[in-house]
This record gives sequence, structure tokens and C-alpha cells, in this order.
Amino acid sequence: MEVIRAEAMGLCFGVRQALECVAAVGDPTAVTVYGELVHNETVNRGLARRGFRRLDEQRRGQALPETPLVLITAHGISDSERARLCGAGLRLVDTTCPLVRRAHDAALGLQSEGCYVLVIGRRGHVEVQGLIGDLPRAEVVESAAEVRCYHQEKIGVLCQTTSSDALVRSVLEAVTARNPGSEVRFVDTVCRPTRERQQALDRLLPLVDALVVVGGRNSRNTRELAESARARGVPAYRIECAAELHPGWFQDCRAVGLTAGTSALDETIEEVHRALLQAPVAGFQVPGFRTEVLGTGPGNLYAEPGA
Ligand code: SF4
Repeated sequence: MEVIRAEAMGLCFGVRQALECVAAVGDPTAVTVYGELVHNETVNRGLARRGFRRLDEQRRGQALPETPLVLITAHGISDSERARLCGAGLRLVDTTCPLVRRAHDAALGLQSEGCYVLVIGRRGHVEVQGLIGDLPRAEVVESAAEVRCYHQEKIGVLCQTTSSDALVRSVLEAVTARNPGSEVRFVDTVCRPTRERQQALDRLLPLVDALVVVGGRNSRNTRELAESARARGVPAYRIECAAELHPGWFQDCRAVGLTAGTSALDETIEEVHRALLQAPVAGFQVPGFRTEVLGTGPGNLYAEPGA
């Protein structure tokens, strides 16, 4: 079986910068990571072993860390939250990705122009919560189906940085169609690494019979890569590590594609690649592979191994 890698995949520069920053911390016990540094359990377990504390993502904005230093993740926080933390005497180690900052600037800019702001993204996602945290007149839109008439003179639209172009396009069309009397302004805040990964996937899909996507279970961009493949009729399997590969998935495959979300470590991708290369076309058994039946045969377009 041939394994074809996407031309762009894996860790983005924003996450790499955050990882470099934590690697340089001398006394991890003095630092609380404000949520998940990346949506990658291997990384998070490694941080815990080094002594970093972690505040649960759902408690951001409510609890105050007990350590003197707080590490803001690449997903960023709102200015009001920043002020709350600093007001409590905490010092911030800020690894907010510059492209997330750009999205914050776009949101504030649209607001200052008098727009009612729509953020295309996932409601509970920490980046989105940060984006709307400073906006009194804003709401989150997850899909075109949610779009309504907002009865606003001006509507400003931006996106979570990891949104897919297809989603953004469909929501924008719906906003325009359902608000014919409004002026609609759009700032494209999808980040370049996300777009490069999506475009690389577009080139990869016609070449393969199935797709393996490496990345964290909570990683939105990982999920979207798999969903893109599914929407185009290519079975897609999301895994966090090579041990989650299942022998039955590739029985009729001549070529399998490999891609990864922005939270996947290089070594994990390489491990998965090596494991796939060892896979015979039918009924392979490779040490470390799970062999139980998951009900995720070739007829399934999408599987959540281990879920
Ligand atoms: S996915 Fe994009 S916005 Fe998010 S950390 Fe990576 S480069 Fe930055």
C-alpha cells in the first residue's frame, strides 16, 4: 500500500512558538497553563510531568490560578480577561499566536466601525470565547443553517482562525442572503497554516482511497480535515497515535493519504507513517496496532477510533 503525505500538515508556527516558550521555562512549578497549550494529550501530560499546573479550559474566566505566573496559550484571551488576571497580581507569559491577535484586531475594528459582529466558529472554543470576550454586540455562528436576519444596518463577519474556507463561504452567503438590507463587511481571519493544510488536502484526496488524520480529539482543525475528506467521499480516520490504527481500515486500499492537524507532533506523524508502511493490504498484524473490531469498516466514511 502506498502512503501519500499531504504537502503541508502538522504543527503550525503558532503552536511551535508556544512549545518553544514552555521548553524555556526554568521553574515550571511557578506557572499555570491557562487551558490546554495544544489539544494534544501527549504534550499536556509532558507538561504536567515537568511540574506545570493547568487550569481546565472550561474554568478560564472564572477561577484564578494559584501560581504567580500564568501562561496564555496560542489561542489567546480577551483583553478584559487579561485585565482580570493582571488585576489579581498575576504575571502573564503570553504565547498568543500573532494570527489570533490579528483576528482580535479585526473584531475590535469591525466593532469600532459600528458593526454587529458575527464570528464564524465553534461556540465553546477558547479562541472564539476570547474573540467575543471584548465585544458587547457579537454572536457566534457555527453553520449557515444558524444564520438569521439580524436587523442591523452593518454586520461585520470574521472567523475562528482554523475555520474551513467552505464553511466561511457558506455562512457568508447565508448572511448576505438573509440580511438584504444590511451592509456586510468581512475580514478573512482564517490563518495561513490552516489554509495551507486544507489546500494540501484538496490536492491529496483525489490520489487516495482513504485518509488518516493525526491529531488531538479536541482539535477542531483535525476534525475539519477529516470532515472535508468525508464530504468528498473519502473514508477518513482520526487518530492520536499509531496504536489507534486498525487493520480493517485499509483492506481494499491501494493508496492511503496521511495528514495531521496543527496540534500533532512531528514524531507522532512519523510513527504513524512508519506503521502505515508496514501494513499489508489485507488483514495485517503489526505489533502495537489494535486488533479489536470497532465497527469502522470501509463502508464507514468517518471513524473515531477509541471514542
Ligand atoms: S492554527 Fe493558525 S492561528 Fe492557530 S496557533 Fe496555529 S498559526 Fe496560529
